[in-house]
Amino acid sequence: MFRKTRLYTPGPTPLLPAAQFAMAAADIHHRTAEFRALYTRVLAQLKEFVGTENDVLMLSCSGTGAMEASVSNLTSPGDRVLVLSGGKFGERWVALAKAFGCVVDLVSVPYGETFDLEVVKAAVKPDTKAVYLQGTETSTAVRHDVQEIAAAVRAVQPEILVVVDAITGLGTTHFDVDAWGVDVLIGGSQKAVMIPPGLAYLSVSDRAWAAMDASKNPRYYFDLRKERKNAKNGESAYTPAVALIAGLGAALDYIAGQAGGNLAEGRKLLVDNAERCAAMTRAGLVALGFTLFAPTAPAAAATAVAVPEGLDSSAVVKEVKARFGAVIANGQGEMKGKIFRIAHLGFFDYMDTIALLGALELVAKDTLKLPVKFGQGVAAAQEVFANSK
Ligand SMILES: *Cc1c(COP(=O)(O)O)cnc(C)c1O
Repeated sequence: MFRKTRLYTPGPTPLLPAAQFAMAAADIHHRTAEFRALYTRVLAQLKEFVGTENDVLMLSCSGTGAMEASVSNLTSPGDRVLVLSGGKFGERWVALAKAFGCVVDLVSVPYGETFDLEVVKAAVKPDTKAVYLQGTETSTAVRHDVQEIAAAVRAVQPEILVVVDAITGLGTTHFDVDAWGVDVLIGGSQKAVMIPPGLAYLSVSDRAWAAMDASKNPRYYFDLRKERKNAKNGESAYTPAVALIAGLGAALDYIAGQAGGNLAEGRKLLVDNAERCAAMTRAGLVALGFTLFAPTAPAAAATAVAVPEGLDSSAVVKEVKARFGAVIANGQGEMKGKIFRIAHLGFFDYMDTIALLGALELVAKDTLKLPVKFGQGVAAAQEVFANSK
């Protein structure tokens, strides 16, 4: 049978056709009125998509570039920072903060879990400059409660900077950046906004701008002050990823179009869509005999499940690709072979979700030799779909 390639990975994610057309047509020089109009429009849309009154900046790099910028711009060597880590991306914060000479206090939880607020509070010291965390830890498919964590750390230290890697959180979790006092919220293009890798964006609060002026780190490409100055004139400091910016504009138009042109409402629908695909997937996979890897705080961005003891999740990843052309994600690092992950962020729908569960029934039966009856996983997902709205 024919096999269409389909991505079910939590970045890169499936591309929106309208964004692909916009990218193909983006034959624009970046120091022209045309580009300035495009950039100004997309930055304004992005601000609405993030849902903040703070500045929103765009960088031409993958998500990690914006993570690096929010360490290099906000801290100085010797500053104390707190990192909350529950997986590979939390560990990236630790490595980044150390690379820039920060003194790192670490609250870490086992993979698959989220943080205890009392433990987080106890880790905040009078001189803790910033706390770095993920909105969703993509490597374990856990969602962290940004609202509660921000309130908890602020209760101890009101001036602390709260920096959230929401690269898979944006578009899969309802955030209120301003009400929760999030100083920096980071997103990336290859996740919920349905375009290829290469753009990162971040919102920056007044408190964060003040910290930047005090930072003693050297900065050049990722100097956010320079980006803000240029953005005011509709330009970026260096040659930007012009095509991706055009694609992002088309994708944000599409998201707004889902709610009659209202982008903030469209974002809510995008989040609800991911939640619903995730709930269907969790129910289907549990019905097939897999165990949820993050049972207490599952993300809507992706679902991670463990295969039964003694079996290999790599075989599932391989077979789903070989037989059906669908690309799902293995576990990262020491979770490789133990779990597999399925994304719901961005351009996924009911059909994608049901079809993948059908394929997984066959793989569970034929490859893992689980006692599966056809329709078992699909039926559980149908129930969830039928009973939600
Ligand atoms: C994808 C992702 C990143 C960014 O990774 P890049 O490869 O640099 O784009 C960072 N944090 C999380 C939680 C992610 O899912």
